[in-house]
Amino acid sequence: MKITYSIIAPIYNEIENLPLLHHRVTEVMESTGKPWELILVDDGSTDGSTEKIRELAAVDKHIRPVIFARNFGHQIAITAGWDFARGDAVVIIDADLQDPPEVILDLAKKWQEGYEVVYAVRAEREGETWFKKFTASMFYRLIYRITDVKIPVDTGDFRLMDRKVVEVLKQMKERHRFPRGMSAWVGFKQIGVEYKRAARHAGVTKYPFKKMLRLALNAITSFSYFPLQVATFFGFLSAGVSILAIPVVAIMRLIGSHFFEGQATTLISVLFLGGVQLISLGILGEYIGRLYDEAKGRPLYIVRDAPKE
Ligand code: UDP
Ligand code: MG
Repeated sequence: MKITYSIIAPIYNEIENLPLLHHRVTEVMESTGKPWELILVDDGSTDGSTEKIRELAAVDKHIRPVIFARNFGHQIAITAGWDFARGDAVVIIDADLQDPPEVILDLAKKWQEGYEVVYAVRAEREGETWFKKFTASMFYRLIYRITDVKIPVDTGDFRLMDRKVVEVLKQMKERHRFPRGMSAWVGFKQIGVEYKRAARHAGVTKYPFKKMLRLALNAITSFSYFPLQVATFFGFLSAGVSILAIPVVAIMRLIGSHFFEGQATTLISVLFLGGVQLISLGILGEYIGRLYDEAKGRPLYIVRDAPKE
C-alpha cells in the first residue's frame, strides 16, 4: 500500500510515554484520512520500551518497529527512521510528547501548499529549567552566527519533510550528524510553523549536559571551520603583538627602563602562548578525530530487528 505519512519517533527508555504517544498519533493521523505509518526506533532502551514497542506493533499494523542492537544516539535513530520510512511526507517527532502530535496537521497543511521542509519553531517552552532554556537559546544563536548554512533558531528536529528531501538526506552518510542542520543545508522550499513546546509527559530528559555539549560540537564542526579560524586569528594576534613589542622593549632597555625585567613577564607570556597552542591543538584534534571516524566507514547503526519490507 502506498503510504502518505511516515511518523518517526526515536525511543530511548520512554516506556511510560509509548501508550499515549501511540494513542495521540493514531487519533491525529486517522483524522487525515490518508494511509500512514508510525516508525518507532528503539535506540537501545533498557526499561522495557523494546517489549512495549513489539506489543504495540503486534496489535497495530501502522507501527513499524526498528530495534537497535545498542544505544546509538538520538540523531542516528532519526537517520534509521529516514531509511525505513516509505511515506511521501516524513515527520520526526519526540517520543516524550513535548512535540504535540496535533501540530503535525499544521505541518501537513504547509506541505500541501507546496513546501518541502516544514519545521516547527518553538515559540514557547513549558516545563524546562531556565538552564536548559538559556543554554538552548545560546546554542541556536551561536550556531546561526558561525555556521555557513542558516539553521533556523529555536527549532528542534520536529519537522515534516517531503520524500524528495529525505532521498537527498539518505545519501548524506556523515557520522557526527546534526539532522536539523542537514535538512537546512539541502535547500528546497522551507518554512517554519510556530508551536508551543509542552512539558515532558513522563520520565526524565535523555539529554544531560554532556550530550548537549557533544551535539553542539557536532553541529559546529559539521557546518563550519569557525574554531579553526579562531586558532589562526590568535596566531596572527600574538605574532602581531610580539612584532610590536620587540622594538618597544629594545628601546626601553636602551633608555634604561627596567619595566620588562623579571621572570613573571616571561612566565606569563609563555603560559599564554602555551595555552593558545594547546587549545588550537585540541580544536585540530576534534576535526581529526571526526575525520578518523569517517575514514573507518563503519555502519551508522546496527539493527537487531527491522521491518521486512
Ligand atoms: N533519544 C534517543 N536516544 C538517545 C537520547 C534520546 O532516541 O540517546 C530520544 C528520546 O527518547 C526522545 C528524543 O530523543 O524521544 C528527545 O530526547 P529528550 O526528550 O530526552 O530530549 P530533550 O527534549 O530533553 O532535549
Ligand atoms: Mg524531550
